[in-house]
Amino acid sequence: DQQHVIMDETAIRRALTRIAHEILERNKGVEDCVLVGIRTRGAFLARRLAERIREIEDTPISVGELDVTSYRDDLEDKDPGTHTGAPVADIPFPTRGKRIILIDDVLYTGRTIRAAMDALMDLGRPQSIQLAVLVDRGHRELPIRPDYIGKNVPTSKLEQIEVTLTEIDSEDQVVIFQQ
Ligand code: 5GP
Ligand code: MG
Repeated sequence: DQQHVIMDETAIRRALTRIAHEILERNKGVEDCVLVGIRTRGAFLARRLAERIREIEDTPISVGELDVTSYRDDLEDKDPGTHTGAPVADIPFPTRGKRIILIDDVLYTGRTIRAAMDALMDLGRPQSIQLAVLVDRGHRELPIRPDYIGKNVPTSKLEQIEVTLTEIDSEDQVVIFQQ
């Protein structure tokens, strides 16, 4: 089957650097901002963005993680015992009144982000929620759009994006392939 590399290590690095600058510009710094990455790969991207922001601005920014797999409303619940419906959050700092920047690797229907926003609202009312994604592959089923985009990749529903990151994979790469 056909595979095409759509982002290599350099492209990913440049996209994250650009997004870091865009976050700083839009929020006039990151004083009120916190980052929340969606596990698994969104969490690694969030840590990279925090590092980039610290390099550019010399300002630390808090990074949390959210696992919303069990929260998706379109998953077949084959084993009800393993799905509590509750999102798992590792956000060890207050988010009330903050500008939360959610980060994920791929945006598709928007259902994961909707679930993530639900979970974040339960933690207390943030000032705002913004969304950063490495790849927007289209096919939204909800009125959700990213504020920061690494790369727009128009896909067919049969195509899939594979994101690999050195934190857990052998290399930094984004590949598109047909199932
Ligand atoms: P959505 O909830 O928007 O339909 O899907 C987004 C979530 O599912 C993201 O957390 C993302 O990791 C995963 N996802 C959806 N489509 C793809 C894809 O084509 N490739 C990868 N790597 N992840 C996807
Ligand atoms: Mg995911």
